Amino acid sequence: MTERRTTIQRPPEAAIRRFQAGQVGDDTVGDYLAKGWSLGICCKACSRLTEWTPPVLVERFADRAGLRIADLVPRLACTGEGGCGSREVAVFPHLYDDAWTWTPSA
Ligand SMILES: [Zn+2]
Repeated sequence: MTERRTTIQRPPEAAIRRFQAGQVGDDTVGDYLAKGWSLGICCKACSRLTEWTPPVLVERFADRAGLRIADLVPRLACTGEGGCGSREVAVFPHLYDDAWTWTPSA
């Protein structure tokens, strides 16, 4: 993957600590795609911030656009390069920095 410019930033630590999956409401992956939002994933145990951009969300969840973000949160963990392995994460939407359009497949 190529490096790209993003304006995503970690929210204040207090907000991350307070985060609960219920906060994200009923938004689904499809809602994020329709709105052109990235999903920001903040580890509560370390300072890692991962951005799942709309193209990444499509790649991972193309056939599951109805998946609720709230249901996804318990399955996330701080994994991958530099990850600490914690399963405690906070998520938030971030307006994707690149042009994006999405048409749900019927
Ligand atoms: Zn971590």
